[in-house]
Amino acid sequence: MGQRAASTVSLSFDEVRIPRANLLCEPGDGLKILFSALNKSRPSVAAHALGIARAAFEDGVAYINQRKQSGRNIIEFQGIQFMLADMATDLALCESWLWRVGAMIDSGEDDIGIEASMLKMRASDLAMQISENAVQLHGGYGYCKDYAVERYMRDAKITQIYEGTNQIHRQLIGRSFIEK
Ligand SMILES: Cc1cc2nc3c(=O)[nH]c(=O)nc-3n(C[C@H](O)[C@H](O)[C@H](O)COP(=O)(O)OP(=O)(O)OC[C@H]3O[C@@H](n4cnc5c(N)ncnc54)[C@H](O)[C@@H]3O)c2cc1C
Repeated sequence: MGQRAASTVSLSFDEVRIPRANLLCEPGDGLKILFSALNKSRPSVAAHALGIARAAFEDGVAYINQRKQSGRNIIEFQGIQFMLADMATDLALCESWLWRVGAMIDSGEDDIGIEASMLKMRASDLAMQISENAVQLHGGYGYCKDYAVERYMRDAKITQIYEGTNQIHRQLIGRSFIEK
């Protein structure tokens, strides 16, 4: 659907023997290593999602500032301004949470799983929502390849799916409140 610059292929390993000296950590540590790596890569997926969201927002705003209907620029209609207000506010809040989680990583904090899940989940949902709104703000042109917003919408979708689907992130966040 999207991310067409990155090819995805299947790999198969048949009868491959790995020298014992190449073992990373101890046998059985694999899942733990994978999860600790994901805590740091999820903020980068969020940064990617927020880049899409920001680009879609800016393209949408630029378009409705010049496109006229009924003798007025589309941005002058209040129904459109309400959409912009919600998008701009959600974007600003989510971007500031990205910086907050980035600062936690820079300071060497390890226990950032829930903060990273919150960030990845909200940023990717926002990328999908804002890119879809940007298509809507472009009207029929939004559905055509003449403008970048159709690509933003396709590229946004995968950010809700990879590095843990957003259902899984909701589960991780929600179950963190179970009292031990
Ligand atoms: C092009 C591409 C590149 C990718 N690259 C990466 C990558 O680099 N890194 C990465 O981590 N992933 C990557 N992924 C995602 C990964 O391959 C899986 O698609 C993803 O982890 C989801 O697993 P699944 O497809 O088996 O879905 P399934 O597990 O079959 O899930 C199907 C649906 O059921 C929901 N579901 C499953 N379990 C639960 C549950 N317990 N509670 C509620 N809902 C549930 C899921 O959220 C989803 O909506 C990539 C995917 C694609 C398409």
